[in-house]
Amino acid sequence: MTEFEHAGDRPVSRRRFVATTAIGAAAAVVGSPVAIGIASPAAADPPLTPDAALGRLIEGNARFVGKRLTSFNEDLDILKQNTVDKQEPFAALLSCADSRVPVELVFDQSIGHVFVTRVAGNVASSEIIASLEYGVAVLGTKVIMVMGHGGCGAVKAAIGGKAVPGQISGLYRYIRPAIDQAGSDLDAAIRANAVIQARLLRESSPVIAEALQQGTLRVVASHYDLASGKVTVLT
Ligand SMILES: [Zn+2]
Repeated sequence: MTEFEHAGDRPVSRRRFVATTAIGAAAAVVGSPVAIGIASPAAADPPLTPDAALGRLIEGNARFVGKRLTSFNEDLDILKQNTVDKQEPFAALLSCADSRVPVELVFDQSIGHVFVTRVAGNVASSEIIASLEYGVAVLGTKVIMVMGHGGCGAVKAAIGGKAVPGQISGLYRYIRPAIDQAGSDLDAAIRANAVIQARLLRESSPVIAEALQQGTLRVVASHYDLASGKVTVLT
């Protein structure tokens, strides 16, 4: 189990990007055309490897936990301008739809940095897999993180197995393997579910499997703690 704070990536580049952003913002104020040409942090300094991409997420979560968010300092005008015609998100997330799991905030990321798919129970349905395949094959994301979270209502409901209105129970079949493995302990089932969904992504998608084989992608499972805000990598 790897705790997020343990792996910081590239503090120097982070300082450089903050400085670049500050210079860009300051120059933009005085109307310098050069300032507009300064690339956004994402475009200027993308992580080059899957490990570096995971490190970028880790770094962002450490800032979130420490209440030292920097993404709000990034120049939104420049970020928007640089992402009108293209996007190059370095990471993709599969997280729960739960309102307590605001993905960009949790990883202190801004426009164009993370490709986020969300569905109750963070399950790898065919639509989710298709979206993540697009992230890998077309956008070149270097890491996919499946993130379960404490107190997940979808997993809790699946453990209960009671009748629910509408199509809610349609989620149960995806979560059932985690309950079969972990039993009725909610926290254990939440963690097992994240690990199982990550494994499903690795094994059920030829696109993802090929990127893994080529070493251009990592797929990891993680757990988000609601109280501390800390994300822990599980696999
Ligand atoms: Zn949930």
